[in-house]
Amino acid sequence: MNDSLNRPLLGCIADDFTGATDLANMLVRGGMRTVQTIGVPATAEAVVADALVVALKSRTLPASEAVAQALEALAWLRAQGCRQIFFKYCSTFDSTDAGNIGPVTDALLDALAREPLAGTATATNAAAIGTAAATASATGCADVSFTIACPAFPENGRTLYRGHLFVGDALLNESGMENHPLTPMTDANLVRVLQRQTPSKVGLVRYDQVARGAAAVRERFAVLRAEGVRMALADALSDADLCTLGEACAGMPLVTGGSGVALGLPENFRRAGVLAARIDAAGLPSVEGLSAVLAGSASKATNAQVAEWRASRPAFRLDPLAAARGEPVVEQALAFAREHLEAAQPQPVLVYATATPDEVKAVQRELGASEAGHLVETLLAAIARGLRELGVRKFVVAGGETSGAVVQALEIHTLRIGAQIDPGVPATATLDAQPLALALKSGNFGTPDFFAKALRQLDGLSPLNAAEHA
Ligand code: ADP
Repeated sequence: MNDSLNRPLLGCIADDFTGATDLANMLVRGGMRTVQTIGVPATAEAVVADALVVALKSRTLPASEAVAQALEALAWLRAQGCRQIFFKYCSTFDSTDAGNIGPVTDALLDALAREPLAGTATATNAAAIGTAAATASATGCADVSFTIACPAFPENGRTLYRGHLFVGDALLNESGMENHPLTPMTDANLVRVLQRQTPSKVGLVRYDQVARGAAAVRERFAVLRAEGVRMALADALSDADLCTLGEACAGMPLVTGGSGVALGLPENFRRAGVLAARIDAAGLPSVEGLSAVLAGSASKATNAQVAEWRASRPAFRLDPLAAARGEPVVEQALAFAREHLEAAQPQPVLVYATATPDEVKAVQRELGASEAGHLVETLLAAIARGLRELGVRKFVVAGGETSGAVVQALEIHTLRIGAQIDPGVPATATLDAQPLALALKSGNFGTPDFFAKALRQLDGLSPLNAAEHA
């Protein structure tokens, strides 16, 4: 493969960690080799990948801070040579009237107008990028005065019709999202919602235009731009609609949306001849070493996964109250792990804080909710470090915040994304010379046998745990 095929094509900025993983998973399924970074990397070292996803934690920050982080991510992605930028937010459009979807979109468009991306389609280089981009350029949509906003993700029940977002059969504002503690969504009309977040003019690409195909959508883009619209919600009811929108966005410097829209983007690069037609985008290095599972989620799904594992495999329960009393629970957990990991037949262990809602409430009453959460995360982070010292190289982690704490404790900054284990949860591996393999799942994801299934996938062809997972 020549060097130009090793340069990243699509640069993504995601406003939270699990959303970034979800997007990366989608791009790998679309045939793009994808690397996810945790925050903006400090070095300008070139990363070999077709798509890069920078995971920020900016969804609920003040708008000015979210904008600053997004611009920092853009600068890094630009330096990596990306030809198109994708700003990823939640498929329920999680935001407030203060932002951050509108302000970040405006800031990215402004920055791209000041300094175009190296690979952006212009009249002179559009032919090199592809026919669709050439058409886009000819119709003017490759300029940076316009982008779409499409949170639709039909696979997960999020559809957009006439600018109104549905979650399953319910309008967004009747879906439970109206009660979200940080970003209550009380209006399903996203044209109105986005318009409250930006001084720019917001428009709509209606479903009947999307249904007529990519050329009709591009015509609509041209009309909207002529009307002074800078960002347009785009209706989508099916994956086919997302592919139409993706095709219409070929050559558009900035695309914004949920991970659904990413479904249609890889094909543009393939059509343009800059993305290999058939490569194993999900390939990960084979990782040798021991395995362990850490669970810090108290969700229903994780409770079921812990119960399933405990029925036949070694598990150590972390007691936050014992830790608060000063008992050496980290040392106890590691001694338990060592016993099983260093046995003649090494066995992966589970260390879990997972508990029923009543048990969690009891702990929270005693310690305070955020103190309890912080304490459990700190314990699991210390245990993750201890396990690595014992030779653990494959980690399955349950819980969004818990995953963040473990990734930080293990000083992981970049992850190559592999094949999907369960919807929304891919296998991943670090990029170091001695890689770690990880499956990081947000609490409610995965089937009851997720832990063993994930370890089997992380094991790949590693012989060490073959007997255990047979
Ligand atoms: P999820 O993805 O299910 O939301 P998270 O890891 O993001 O999982 O959040 C779960 C939170 O609950 C973490 O802060 C974790 O430390 C905390 N927690 C887990 N187990 C307990 C427990 N037994 N008592 C109190 N807090 C707990």
